[in-house]
Formats: sequence, C-alpha cells, structure tokens
Amino acid sequence: MSTRPRIYALPALDSNYFWLLQPDPGSPDAYIIDPGDAEPVLTALTQRDLKLKGILITHHHWDHTDGLPALLARHPVPVWGPASERIPQVTRPLAEGDRVALPGMPLTVLAVPGHTLDHIAYLHQPAHGAAQLFCGDALFAAGCGRMFEGEPAQMLNSLDKLAQLPDDTLVYCAHEYTLANLDFARTVEPGNDAINERCVTEMARRREGQATIPTRVGLERRTNPFLRCREPAVQRAAADYSGQALPDAAAVFASLRRWKDGHKTGTGFLDRYPRNP
Ligand SMILES: [Zn+2]
Repeated sequence: MSTRPRIYALPALDSNYFWLLQPDPGSPDAYIIDPGDAEPVLTALTQRDLKLKGILITHHHWDHTDGLPALLARHPVPVWGPASERIPQVTRPLAEGDRVALPGMPLTVLAVPGHTLDHIAYLHQPAHGAAQLFCGDALFAAGCGRMFEGEPAQMLNSLDKLAQLPDDTLVYCAHEYTLANLDFARTVEPGNDAINERCVTEMARRREGQATIPTRVGLERRTNPFLRCREPAVQRAAADYSGQALPDAAAVFASLRRWKDGHKTGTGFLDRYPRNP
C-alpha cells in the first residue's frame, strides 16, 4: 500500500523552517532539508523515533548549513547539495535535472540562481496528488529571497521556472516571512483583492500560532508581486517607484527587489489587523 510521505516543519533560529521528510510513514528513515542548527533536528528525530538517512541543502548560507558538522558527527549520512566549494560537507553534488532517489520520494533538482548563484530546489512529483517543492530562499510566501549574488534577469528566470509548476504544487520555503511580505505586496498592489484576502487569512493563522507554509504556486501567482512582473498594475507601481519607464519584466523585478529591500515592514500593517495575543 502506498502512502504519502510525511513532512514535518521544524521551526528554528529566528524565522527558519527546516523540513524533515519521512518518505514512508511505515519506516523510520528520515531526511532533513537545510539544517541551519543541529539541535532542533536531533530533538525531532528522538521525539518521532526517526533515523536520519540523509541531508539535503538548497544553498550555502549559514542558516541552512550550520547544523551539518554536529549532525554528521552523530549521523554519518550522505549530504546532497549544490556543487559548490562553499559547502565542503556535500558528498553528492547536484545540478539542474539531477535526481535524488530517496526511497518512496524521488526528487528532481531545479537550478534557481539569484538569491545565491549556487541555489537549487527539490521537486517531488508523486503519481497522485499535489507536487511538493522545497525551494529554500529562492521563493517565499508572497515574496522572494534577497538578490545577493545573481542578476535580475537570472533571478526572474528562476522564479518563472517555479511559477510554471501546477497551481496546486505545495511550496515549502525556508522562512516565515509571510506577513512582512504581504505588507509589501499590498503596497505594490493595493487594489488586488486576493492579496487583501490573504492578509486576513495569514494573520489569523499567525495569531493561532500556525505556520503559513506550505503555500501553493497558484496562490503565489495571484498574490506574490515577484511572480507578477508582467501584470500592468505591478509594472506601473514599479515604474512609479523607479521614477522611469521600465523596459522589460527583468527591470520590473529589479525595481521591486530594490523597493522591498528598503521597505519598512509592518508599518501600519499590524495596526490594521489584530496582534498576536
Ligand atoms: Zn539564504
């Protein structure tokens, strides 16, 4: 009998989620994505009586990799990740189109440079049901990672690749930034009802102490400004911010990214919606 993999969110550090995968609920074998700290992973393995069989990394940033030495000292398992000398623990280097054959949960690798040049994402496409995307800091709920290393056209191309996945694809990103991202999204598109509705829904979730992740690709296409660089309303807002006409979607993306980098999150947003108790 085939059953769906279990995916556990491990909240960690300031705002991170590490994703703990149990591909076969009948087996204790488990895999962790982006362990920026070993402690929450070791605790979750003990609590759930799971056995770590492998580690997957999306990019080299410390909050995705710092747990590697302590985890490997206890569990000498394979480490899949970008072919990058900046992650010396990677034993199974990966690139676009590679497969990671986790038993019961085969993953396809997508190269998504922009936040960092070495950034990859992992896609599980089961025979039945929604696909699952583990995308690190490339795409966030209602936002995207800062463009630390890439160029606008390159990062937009990476986001376009993710936006083309089926609408019901579940998106497991690595940070709980959703409310701050929505604050920016409604600044860009104040007339977008889907964004306004989402503000209410996600605020309620946070008030209940729930994660807003995973999100879905379809919802992101409707509410995430960085996936809407070809929408006239977004193009107008980005051009107004830049004070000049923008020639193409990459220029719109670059303008949005600069705008977001300087955006004071939460200004007014938390006043209009109930605060956490
Ligand atoms: Zn990062």
